[in-house]
Amino acid sequence: MEEKIEALKQQAREAVASAAKNLSELDDVRVKFLGKKGEFTAILRGLGAVAKEERPKIGAIVNAAKAEVEALIQQKNEELKARAMADRLESEKIDVTLPGRRATAGHLHPLTQTLDRIKDIFFRMGFSVEEGPEIEKDYYNFEALNLPKDHPARDMQDSFYITEDILMRSQTSPVQARTMEKNPPNAPIRMIAPGRVYRRDEYDATHSPMFTQVEGLVIDEGISFADLKGTLELFLQQMFGEEVGVRFRPSFFPFTEPSAEVDISCVMCHGKGCRVCKGTGWLEILGSGMVHPNVLRMSGYDPKKVSGFAFGMGVERIAMLSYGIDDLRLFYDNDMRFLRQF
Ligand SMILES: [Zn+2]
Repeated sequence: MEEKIEALKQQAREAVASAAKNLSELDDVRVKFLGKKGEFTAILRGLGAVAKEERPKIGAIVNAAKAEVEALIQQKNEELKARAMADRLESEKIDVTLPGRRATAGHLHPLTQTLDRIKDIFFRMGFSVEEGPEIEKDYYNFEALNLPKDHPARDMQDSFYITEDILMRSQTSPVQARTMEKNPPNAPIRMIAPGRVYRRDEYDATHSPMFTQVEGLVIDEGISFADLKGTLELFLQQMFGEEVGVRFRPSFFPFTEPSAEVDISCVMCHGKGCRVCKGTGWLEILGSGMVHPNVLRMSGYDPKKVSGFAFGMGVERIAMLSYGIDDLRLFYDNDMRFLRQF
């Protein structure tokens, strides 16, 4: 019996030393030898078969062996825990001298940058910035701008209608009508209205069904065409450089009379003629005119007391000419290789 116990102890010692590679294996060893159904427990249970006077002695030996094995397991347990901690410290080691990952700062989209420059120039001339809804009533988009329902000019800008009377605005001009309407009668106005507009158009190098427009409106007593020319010339010189040529061509818009297209000398060839200006030396840049008396009247202004001028331009076109970009779609593709250049 004593030999059996000794052998069992030896077995346990070896199991602890070699078999137990981690805490869960060590626990298996503990269960195998010391558990309720373990080897040592089996011996204690079997003491009934031992001669009565031998029992205390054998019991003591078994308990001593159990205590010894328990101590071994406890020691091994601490070793394994220490090693696991050391491994973890090693694997999670942080080299604080490594350079950090640089947080990449973004920047404004080229269209936003262009729009900011435009706004800035008009701010300095005392203009305010007004905004309005992109989903607009037919009344503000057309009727209040001297374009009644049967007006042929409505075909020029085929629109996205949501209902009979509501559409995606095809121009930012409705903001002008809304601003005039909320003002006291004949109150002076000096404003620009920047924003997105929508037209049923192709999506190609020079067209998009959505684009960005800036319109401007000045109303006061005694505003003349000379004010229009002076303001727009100054704006274009600040935008494209002092030396830029500016010319006005008679044109037609339903909401202005007289109306003028404004051209600048070609920014690519400086007037000599090239592919961009189709050999003319000039580039169409904005539309303008004196506010039509009907438009003033519609919004509660008296054309006998005040007059004004209005203008509108496409931000994409100005950005394309400023940066020498030949495809409008590049602005909307969001290709980082393109955007990083600005
Ligand atoms: Zn040119």
